[in-house]
Amino acid sequence: MPKPKPKPKPIPMTMTIGAFSKASRLSPKALRLYDELGLLRPARVDPRTGYRHYAPEQLERARLVAWLRRLGMPLAGIREVVALEPAAAAREIRAYWSRVEARTAARRDLATFLIDHLTGPLAGPSPDNPNKELPTMTTLELRYSAVSDTGLVRPANQDTAYAGTRVLAVADGFGAGGAPASGAAVEALKSLDAEPLPAGSVLNLLEDAVQGAAEAVREVAGATDETGTTLTAMVWTGSQLALVHIGDSRAYLLRDGELFRITHDHTVVQSLLDEGRLTPEEATAHPQRSLLAKALTGGGPAPAPDLRLHDALPGDRYLLCSDGLTTTVPDAVLKEALTTSPDPAGAVRTLIEAANGTGAPDNVSCVVADVVRRVQRCDEA
Ligand code: MG
Repeated sequence: MPKPKPKPKPIPMTMTIGAFSKASRLSPKALRLYDELGLLRPARVDPRTGYRHYAPEQLERARLVAWLRRLGMPLAGIREVVALEPAAAAREIRAYWSRVEARTAARRDLATFLIDHLTGPLAGPSPDNPNKELPTMTTLELRYSAVSDTGLVRPANQDTAYAGTRVLAVADGFGAGGAPASGAAVEALKSLDAEPLPAGSVLNLLEDAVQGAAEAVREVAGATDETGTTLTAMVWTGSQLALVHIGDSRAYLLRDGELFRITHDHTVVQSLLDEGRLTPEEATAHPQRSLLAKALTGGGPAPAPDLRLHDALPGDRYLLCSDGLTTTVPDAVLKEALTTSPDPAGAVRTLIEAANGTGAPDNVSCVVADVVRRVQRCDEA
């Protein structure tokens, strides 16, 4: 009996690169690039002519690549996303967009700072405002108080808190050399306390001071990531407060009876929360909720700090504190203490007592500063 002839293999239905380009809205040039980069391989390449052919089922992936390009995602990120199942791809896109928004927010703050700097009270006459006169005096000043407390459980205090006429700072040291690390970071900022600071140069001065703090921490910590410190500080210019922030210590502003948190924790758990990978309830109970995403340490380059500028209003009350306060004392109690205490020293005392009332498992540091009007004769300026 003659052997049955083998059936010819069906030739898969494919589209030419031109037809596929039209359907996917990706140019042939882009399709060739994505092939080279491994983002979108053609279904078949003609061995004789080298022409690329695509399967209709590849259209969806091609469209996803085009959309992700339009979103501005880098090619390496696109390669990861298109290899994932839809749910996981959606999570990755959400995480990418959170990172974009965080970067945009930092740039927006910088832009705001530059606009304030160029149009602020110290900017002087400009083509837009030729009659503007330079002020001869400031009318605001700070009243402040700082206390750092060991708490009721830890054998030593690794926090450092400081308040001077221009510098407010809290640093929370960790690791074997945590106390000298937090002390060195704050000490490096104290140089800004010596001279009056023009608003225009404060950003550069702060960046330099943070570099100085990073070097000082590196010196006392040795080349290790295990020892380091957070640093949250504000520098007073006479009309504004410049904020620098690395880690999970915090700054709050009480204005018109409302309490605003003005720093964002640099913790791994906060990043997961921002990216929608954890719920707030899961974050609160997370075993590694104090794991820092950014800190000044002995090893590696200093991370970029968050820098912001706040216009001060008379009546503003600022609080800088370590996580020993915020992990034990709820926001409502913070607000109550800050609202009812008549002066910074009283507010600091009440807050430390509140933390100790919870058992104070960690060191607790608080700096409270009030922006007050100063009555000053013009010839005193
Ligand atoms: Mg702490």
